[in-house]
Amino acid sequence: MSLVDSAPSSHTHDAAASAALNAEDSARILAKAALFSPPDATLPDGRRDLVGLSREELTELLVEIGEKPFRTKQLWHWIYHQGVTDFSAMSSIAKPLQAKLAERFVVGRPQAAMVQTSTDETRKFLFRFRDGQEAETVYIPDRREDRGAVCISSQVGCTLSCTFCHTGTQKLVRNLGAAEIVGQFMAARDSYSEWPSPKGDTPRLLSTIVLMGMGEPLYNYENIAKAMKIIMDGEGIALSRRRITLSTSGVVPLMDRCGEELGINLAVSLHAVTNELRNEIVPLNRKYPIEEVLAACRRYPAANNSRRITFEYIMLRGVNDSEADARELVRLISGLPAKVNLIPFNPWPGSAYRPSTREQQNKFAQIIMDAGFSSPIRTPRGRDILAACGQLKTESERIRAAQS
Ligand code: SAH
Ligand code: SF4
Repeated sequence: MSLVDSAPSSHTHDAAASAALNAEDSARILAKAALFSPPDATLPDGRRDLVGLSREELTELLVEIGEKPFRTKQLWHWIYHQGVTDFSAMSSIAKPLQAKLAERFVVGRPQAAMVQTSTDETRKFLFRFRDGQEAETVYIPDRREDRGAVCISSQVGCTLSCTFCHTGTQKLVRNLGAAEIVGQFMAARDSYSEWPSPKGDTPRLLSTIVLMGMGEPLYNYENIAKAMKIIMDGEGIALSRRRITLSTSGVVPLMDRCGEELGINLAVSLHAVTNELRNEIVPLNRKYPIEEVLAACRRYPAANNSRRITFEYIMLRGVNDSEADARELVRLISGLPAKVNLIPFNPWPGSAYRPSTREQQNKFAQIIMDAGFSSPIRTPRGRDILAACGQLKTESERIRAAQS
């Protein structure tokens, strides 16, 4: 058992002690994540998937088959810039080498088990991975402009069990691998034929990534980090770290590392302003209470006035949506470069909550805006195709069960 498990959290310990606790706790989280590793990325016929490898790993594989390291750059370009999955289309590579590569490797994609496009253009994918496990990805286009966000899953299921979340009712099956995380984005891109990757400031249809799908991304930190480094690589997909946002329910020890190592934007699922209520609806709060989560936000290296931290707040009628709650929220985040994202609760069969009334949402938002924070109410999108997060997967399982 780690110190953090046994010692009650104290706010008097100094920064050094807290850093040591963080390091120990983060090692424990990473070790646990490894127990839920994805299966090996090799096909039954022995061919290896090249997607999701770092440049160094790709070079190693090429050297193993007697090729020169400079081939990495070429392959990287075809895989991540051109989006090509067929070696015979890699025209800068000589035919004999194309054939040699095709014998040993594939450039894979998750299989789309289900794709639904809403009347509002939101498109939801259910991707099936090689071992049959599934996760959801959603593309949410911006209605006014030619751009949009891709919401990516990090785990199949989730170990946490936030009471309002449908994914929280599904136990953690496993972590998604870097290939599966990058693959969600690439397969969504395929569906809009947005290849080669637009360069520089050229508008992109799939212009931002939000790590807000199924699972807790900071409980699968290493695969997420590897995947984001591939996506940010300037010679491939080349999406800027400013266009990527990771949403966490508050895994404090890894928030620091995420900011230092990846420098991507942070969103924090706050959802309650007292530890008493947050302990109940976001159970991870019992380990990392509100003050520790906010302290981690205050030291988050990639936040400033032009890149604010988003506080997500789900509006549950009569539970967390009073005007007093709004005022307390303002007090908690004051001094932080922050914005608040109010999320209308999306009910799912069996859920215990109701969404706040529109009137109450507006009152709540007004108090936050009067304090100088931007406070958009997230418009529910794709209502006709998806209910709450995590439901498409359940639906697919229900259909498959009915068919078998
Ligand atoms: N595990 C991470 C990221 C995935 S959950 C986290 O908790 O931040 C991402 C968001 O989905 C959360 O902010 C949560 O508020 C939202 N969400 C979950 N269930 C929801 C529901 N029933 N209705 C609306 N939003 C929901
Ligand atoms: Fe997991 Fe996030 Fe859902 Fe909580 S809200 S159960 S952390 S996916």
